Amino acid sequence: MKKTENRETAEIEKSEQSGECAAQTENDRVAADADKPDERDLKFMRLALAELENCPKTEVPVAAVVVCGDEVVGRGVNRRETDGDPTAHAEVVAIRDASKRLGRWNLSDCELFVTLEPCVMCAGAIVYSRISRVVYGAKDVRFGACGSALDITGCEKLNHRAKTLGGVLDELCLPPIRGFFQECRKNGGRKFKG
Ligand SMILES: [Zn+2]
Repeated sequence: MKKTENRETAEIEKSEQSGECAAQTENDRVAADADKPDERDLKFMRLALAELENCPKTEVPVAAVVVCGDEVVGRGVNRRETDGDPTAHAEVVAIRDASKRLGRWNLSDCELFVTLEPCVMCAGAIVYSRISRVVYGAKDVRFGACGSALDITGCEKLNHRAKTLGGVLDELCLPPIRGFFQECRKNGGRKFKG
């Protein structure tokens, strides 16, 4: 009997413990679900990362893809220096590419995946193209306009808001950017060799 009692006590303790754990896990899961990328998010962020290959070496390495359903409809890399165009950020290039391909400016059925948190200009372009959701890699604490420095995509005063999810695969998105600026410093502040 003593053995049974012990076993019962052990069972209750175990179930109480696991009950507590389960409750905690459930809360964590619910909280985490809102902030965590799913497999689809990771897939498209990897495609954005793959676009970095097309980014000229003279540019801050940032790449973006616009996705409609399960299809990539726009691609872009940072081309500011290459094109001498202050608006040629990866996001704007990708949005223009998507609009051209789809033949319309309203991209409300599209999402944007980008390796760095959009700046104020790109967040503005996201709002004005009605993109429904932005998934970004590295956070930009100084200039990010999707919640870090500013929250343009979530601004109540504007006529459109995009859902945002940040920090996705930032361990892969940040090193190329860090490497670029380290290289700049090595070259005495110049952006690239030559
Ligand atoms: Zn930008």
